[in-house]
Amino acid sequence: MHDGTQALNQASNQLSDDAHGYYTRGENIIDAKAPVGPIKDRWTNRKFENRLVNPANRRKLDVIIVGTGLAGGAAAATMGEAGYNVKSFCYQDSPRRAHSIAAQGGINAAKNYKEDGDSTFRLFYDTVKGGDYRSRESNVYRLAEVSANIIDQCVAQGVPFAREYGGLLDNRSFGGVQVSRTFYARGQTGQQLLLGAYQAMERQVGAGTVQEFTRHEMLEVIVVDDRARGIIARNMVTGEIETHLADVVVLATGGYGNVFFLSTNAMGSNVTAAWRAHRKGAYMANPCYTQIHPTCIPVSGEHQSKLTLMSESLRNDGRIWVPKNREDCEKDPRDIPEEDRDYYLERIYPSFGNLVPRDIASRQAKNMCDEGRGVGPLVGDFRRGVYLDFADAIARMGKKAVETKYGNLFDMYARITGEDPYESPMRIYPAVHYVMGGLWVDYDLQSNIPGLFVTGEANFSDHGANRLGASALMQGLADGYFVLPNTIRDYLADGPFEKVSEDHPAVVEARTSVEERITRFLSINGTRSADSYHKELGHIMWEYCGMERSEDGLRKAIDLIRELKADFWSNLKVLGTADSLNQSLEKAGRVVDFIELGELMCIDALNRRESCGGHFRAESQTEDGEALRHDDEFAYVAAWEWGGDSLDGGQPVLHKEDLIYTAIEMKQRSYK
Ligand SMILES: Cc1cc2nc3c(=O)[nH]c(=O)nc-3n(C[C@H](O)[C@H](O)[C@H](O)COP(=O)(O)OP(=O)(O)OC[C@H]3O[C@@H](n4cnc5c(N)ncnc54)[C@H](O)[C@@H]3O)c2cc1C
Repeated sequence: MHDGTQALNQASNQLSDDAHGYYTRGENIIDAKAPVGPIKDRWTNRKFENRLVNPANRRKLDVIIVGTGLAGGAAAATMGEAGYNVKSFCYQDSPRRAHSIAAQGGINAAKNYKEDGDSTFRLFYDTVKGGDYRSRESNVYRLAEVSANIIDQCVAQGVPFAREYGGLLDNRSFGGVQVSRTFYARGQTGQQLLLGAYQAMERQVGAGTVQEFTRHEMLEVIVVDDRARGIIARNMVTGEIETHLADVVVLATGGYGNVFFLSTNAMGSNVTAAWRAHRKGAYMANPCYTQIHPTCIPVSGEHQSKLTLMSESLRNDGRIWVPKNREDCEKDPRDIPEEDRDYYLERIYPSFGNLVPRDIASRQAKNMCDEGRGVGPLVGDFRRGVYLDFADAIARMGKKAVETKYGNLFDMYARITGEDPYESPMRIYPAVHYVMGGLWVDYDLQSNIPGLFVTGEANFSDHGANRLGASALMQGLADGYFVLPNTIRDYLADGPFEKVSEDHPAVVEARTSVEERITRFLSINGTRSADSYHKELGHIMWEYCGMERSEDGLRKAIDLIRELKADFWSNLKVLGTADSLNQSLEKAGRVVDFIELGELMCIDALNRRESCGGHFRAESQTEDGEALRHDDEFAYVAAWEWGGDSLDGGQPVLHKEDLIYTAIEMKQRSYK
């Protein structure tokens, strides 16, 4: 441990470099906004130091916010209420259809309502440890600090959090922690929180401070004199290409888990907004950090396009097991006696049991299936499933109590699988769920392009190499309600910036590039749909950049992705025209951005020859198969700069930012 003023300069200590030849090395970077001093004072001091914008001047400042999920919706409501002119964009027909609405399980906050030893510091500690010491400690502390405000804010909005018999807000536990700090609204927490943010935003629409642009897809960032000054968006209904100018641009555009084709994300979730910004100069940080969630309904066949999450909250009361003997895998689970069941998480991790973090639970499920002890139907020659069993919980609490807590999740499972989880155990298997990687931002949530701020899942976030359950909603709302409004004002205090006209060369260039790209998609006139490329990319990513990654596999994936990309540009078929609703055209743009991102994810994973959180390199594990970090070589954020398309000989440029811990000691994680 040190006092935070010394630079560790570990970033240059990397000894192994599997990705040599795939990238070029840029300068090391620092987070110039990173605060110093005692960790508990850093955010308070920063809020005070940041300059103010007086109310009369706010009315002269234009703010574009792309995204209306929890991060974007909360930011639009707050910035609108502060008096700025906000333009809010989303590609759905309503802001409240943003993917955040799908979140089920809950939202964390260090309220210590259960008096079970929780505190701001413990939430901070759990989150840093859960992320395998690959996040920034100042950011995580701030997140823990504002977590309690989020709950107060949402309760004031009328969000119907679950309550105990006496009327107090209830809590449950999520993975990676030993306290109960997760606030929830049955299995619909995201929906209720989003309705709160949406209503707050609509109030500002009524007040005239927020203008809404639904069914608009942002396809380019406008950068003038090195500052973000607007966006180019396509009206998805009419096909019109529109230019929107502003003093500052915020991207709250969600995560890119759909790069794997099959994921629990909403079908529309994509990387285009972030990737277009990346191609304009914004760094993409830790792109390979992906979260694979352990409790999803298993893949059932080749023709699936979507996976369904069964909330992590189910691990509070459900017990996970597989048969001890392979011969039992085909049996009805109810006929397998207790002594022939392996409750493997309880066996391997007695302290945390079924509540180990997601990365660990996922990997162990895979191990069980790899050993031939998976359950459920064969998909190919493999059974992908483990049991999540509520028999004990039903015996202990009664069916009614289980139904009250998890009823809608049980119904959803029954509708999708045709099986009754009250009668026999659910079958679950890991699936892609969330990305910890995203656009690089400093402590103020500003990317390396001045005037381009990034919030929510779209930024590289506060979760390091693995996010703890119920922490994404916390981060999205922390960013939107509390952090961004306090940091962006320091940037806006220099505004309003000189007006930019629509015929400024940088604006014309951005618009022309969008138009040319659309024309190119439509003119290839090959034989394959964008969807078929997406599916093939997903297979490559899952196979070689999924739950376990190896040097040989990642090299192979990069070759395959490059072949796929070349084929895309020569053999794509887009139906219809540009001047109307055209989902085939929308998909083409999103898929090719996924292909380029997938390539970078593999290069990032190849470079990081260590295992940490969700990034498990086969070459770096302990004797008992746990993730093995190499802090001396890899305690850095990998911030990648666009270096041109690999088809034209371009290579990404790697900038490293040291991770420095002063308030917490880096340790090998243990949940045993
Ligand atoms: C099934 C599921 C359950 C989950 N449950 C939980 C949970 O219980 N607790 C928890 O903490 N986390 C949970 N998560 C994670 C959490 O839901 C997300 O991380 C979070 O909601 C992301 O919010 P966001 O505001 O960053 O982005 P999103 O909600 O994804 O919103 C993105 C917005 O950006 C817009 N957008 C994107 N690109 C463009 C573009 N090019 N042009 C215009 N608009 C664009 C979209 O229209 C949308 O409005 C869950 C995730 C899934 C998949």
